[in-house]
Amino acid sequence: RQAAFRTDLSVLLDQVGAGKESLSFMKRRIRRLAQQWATAANRLDAKLEQRWRDQKKILVHVGFLTEESGDVFSPKVLKGGPLGEMVQWADILTALHVLGHNLKISMSVKELQGFLGVPPGRGSCPLTGPLPFDLIYTDYHGMQQMKQHMGLSLRKHKCHIRVIDTFGTEPAYNHEEYATLHGYRTNWGYWNLNARQYMTMFPHTPDNSFMGFVSEELNETEKRSIQQNKVNNMAVVYGKEASMWKLQQGKDGFLQILHKYMEVHGTVYYETQRPPEVPAFVKNHGLLPQHELQQLLRKAKLFIGFGFPYEGPAPLEAIANGCIFLQPKFHPPHSSLNHEFFRGKPTSREVSSQHPYAEQYIGRPHVMTVDYNNSQEFDSAIREIMRTKVEPYLPYEYTCEGMLERVHAYIQHQDFCALEPPFIPANLSRQGSAGGGRITGPLFVHLRNSTALGWASNVTAPPAWPPLSSLRLLVSQEGQSCVEACYSDGFICEPALFHFINNKEALRRLEVQCDVVDSEINHILPAFSVLRRECGLQREPLLFSCAGHSPKYRRLCPCRDFRRGQVALCRDCL
Ligand code: UDP
Repeated sequence: RQAAFRTDLSVLLDQVGAGKESLSFMKRRIRRLAQQWATAANRLDAKLEQRWRDQKKILVHVGFLTEESGDVFSPKVLKGGPLGEMVQWADILTALHVLGHNLKISMSVKELQGFLGVPPGRGSCPLTGPLPFDLIYTDYHGMQQMKQHMGLSLRKHKCHIRVIDTFGTEPAYNHEEYATLHGYRTNWGYWNLNARQYMTMFPHTPDNSFMGFVSEELNETEKRSIQQNKVNNMAVVYGKEASMWKLQQGKDGFLQILHKYMEVHGTVYYETQRPPEVPAFVKNHGLLPQHELQQLLRKAKLFIGFGFPYEGPAPLEAIANGCIFLQPKFHPPHSSLNHEFFRGKPTSREVSSQHPYAEQYIGRPHVMTVDYNNSQEFDSAIREIMRTKVEPYLPYEYTCEGMLERVHAYIQHQDFCALEPPFIPANLSRQGSAGGGRITGPLFVHLRNSTALGWASNVTAPPAWPPLSSLRLLVSQEGQSCVEACYSDGFICEPALFHFINNKEALRRLEVQCDVVDSEINHILPAFSVLRRECGLQREPLLFSCAGHSPKYRRLCPCRDFRRGQVALCRDCL
């Protein structure tokens, strides 16, 4: 069946259910943004020009909100607990509904069993018949629950699953055997999915798919009125929980510097008394409903982060309402190797500031990332912010239309059930080649057509998405990942295209000197060592990794172009 856009959200609101603060929060959000979604649906409908869209049967199982997972989030909705996940789930549900898919929503193991047709309460009784859904969106808690209640059949059906995973999962952590053998095992990873089945909150490593969420959009009249009513010396502090304020203590703290110039506002949750962490000069509004926070942000000039929470939605909302976001730079970067918060998360990603997306994708004048330990640098940043005029700004990928466009493209094009293309290059043999030291040849090849690398001669090229026309082959520096290598040339690493560069022809085209070409299981492959003249190709497709890097190796990287403001999609991707 053909999917038709929906602009009426009342059925969705009924489906979400009631009885918990988390659900009420999500429903308030869905209602508040309803008009914005409807406008976006009409725009995307026109843009796609009657293109056929399959209507999919979709199950959304929100694992972290089930009682069975302990649901620690719901009781904290009104007490300063994390809301980012609920923001994202509300938006995912809305996007799937608006795109016109056939949606079922489950928030308990019982509902999950009902929808899957598994007899309730029977431990790991496997699902015997076919899976009654084309797609299942869930999270790590939901995966665990499905494993428990679908037993063995999960393995058979896992290509239909999408895991909403805020901070991302890198391939090395996802591959059970490899993770176990090489020290990448965590409490979360090791599901042996295609890493693109993990969907993140921000575009972190492109090994995962970027799902995102939306922020409030303003029309021209609202933008103008915001700019007229900005209060130049008004700052709002990012942090709705008192513990987040601990970081600023110390007599010469940056908050004191800020207070020299600006009136400081906060939205910190409190029960009866001002939390002791919040200094007396701060005007604390208490935790605000989302729409009231927006009103506050419309007046404020500065939204300032203390370093926690990491990578939340609030900075985008602030920037969309015309604030400048000031945040601390992390020296050294925070990661699962050196920071408690990230410890045990299935990624080695280095977080360079409180909000790397804001730092790298938005930047000045909307975002300033400075060293908070350097009071001079901090002081001059505040003065600069008070002088600078900025317009409200929201990247296209965080608008409703941008999210609908992206989710539409994933649903229609990402297929992890289709057979993977062959990946072991034919005629793999040891090569003895003379001459040459360091490679000097062209390290950048634009592949104009699918035969450019010669795989058509020994491998049948499968239909690719993103299309091959977007592929650029690039070589990283030693120690550099493909994420960085592609990014520094204005491209993005595209894991779906690794298949096409994992062959001797690619090495030959790059004029790499290989005494040996081996095929191995290692997440930095394909790659080569210049010094040892050793080249390696990847033997395990689940380990194709944009994120991988190693000090002595240069990597072969499949990069692709991307749309301005929609990094998940290449030019010909729609
Ligand atoms: N928020 C809110 N009231 C407040 C402060 C924040 O409703 O007083 C909302 C805000 O609009 C944002 C959400 O909380 O959409 C998540 O905010 P944050 O960036 O702090 O991320 P979290 O750590 O909660 O995931």
